[in-house]
Amino acid sequence: MKFELPKIPYSYDSLEPYIDSKTMEIHHTKHHKIYTDKLNIALEKENIKNNDIEKILSNLSNIPENIRKVVNFNGGGYDNHNIFWNNMKPNGGGEPNNKILEMINESFGNFENFKDIFSKNTAIIQGSGWGWLVFNPNSNKVEFITMNNQDSPRTKGFVPILGLDVWEHAYYLKYQNKRPNYIESWWNIINWDDVESRLNKCFK
Ligand code: MN
Repeated sequence: MKFELPKIPYSYDSLEPYIDSKTMEIHHTKHHKIYTDKLNIALEKENIKNNDIEKILSNLSNIPENIRKVVNFNGGGYDNHNIFWNNMKPNGGGEPNNKILEMINESFGNFENFKDIFSKNTAIIQGSGWGWLVFNPNSNKVEFITMNNQDSPRTKGFVPILGLDVWEHAYYLKYQNKRPNYIESWWNIINWDDVESRLNKCFK
């Protein structure tokens, strides 16, 4: 019943030159692995068999208080990175189509404005965190939010659709302190089909 480190559906070097191979390898085999392991250790400690991460993060108050912070952090880290890897692909980028474009236009006016809001606000996250395009089930609209550390948008009732990790471990080897350059590069590797399918699941 344990959570397992998921495979990435492309090779570590295939997002070059936008994200370098070494960063991908360390990010996946070390950072993501540690979140996964620590999530398992915490759940085992309380003998929790639930292996639906979406339910765990959406109902954190059901998790015993003594492990709640650890599950918030490492469960968020486990889930966020699963989404992150699948949100990207080699030769991705460009502009979205279909439902996701419609909803971006509805919430942000147009794609360029969305991109601008996402990039600017993700660049200025203090310390470690993530920029997210999320679906808000209350308004039936997409929104941009930032989350600190590994906090999952699910803990706030949102469905994560597209996320960008701006922890230094995600870009430091190649971009050093230049977070905005990393963000600008990332738009070239977005897998809009994956984003679209996450959005479509919200309407089923
Ligand atoms: Mn990360």
